[in-house]
Amino acid sequence: MNDPNCIFCKIIRKEIPAKIAFEDEEILAFHDISPQAPVHIVFIPKKHIVSLAETTNPDATLLGNILVRIQETAKTLGFSKKGYRVVNNTGTNGGQTVFHIHFHLLAERRLQWPPG
Ligand code: 5GP
Ligand code: ZN
Repeated sequence: MNDPNCIFCKIIRKEIPAKIAFEDEEILAFHDISPQAPVHIVFIPKKHIVSLAETTNPDATLLGNILVRIQETAKTLGFSKKGYRVVNNTGTNGGQTVFHIHFHLLAERRLQWPPG
């Protein structure tokens, strides 16, 4: 469930400080330490899953709950109508640097497409 050496698991256990945006029994959201937009929040499951590539069908509800929580956060923070971006980087070629699955919520600037 929890990896002793994983940086995001350490944030879940409050061993590393983070600015928490949302927390319930299965999800934690915190502000990214190196924000790439005026709003940059990272959503993670409390269950240690390495990446999207490691998910299985029983994780579907948890993954869906994270996406719904992201859209609720966008509404609460007031940029739902302006738009925002949800990003999941998977594996080395996907640009993943922390190997605990997470979804970035980026908002409050006009984002470019395609990404680099
Ligand atoms: P990835 O590149 O794996 O998709 O995203 C990892 C994200 O985690 C990066 O945007 C990085 O800035 C963020 N991050 C890494 N370490 C920490 C930390 O200790 N605290 C916080 N708040 N964010 C972190
Ligand atoms: Zn972890």
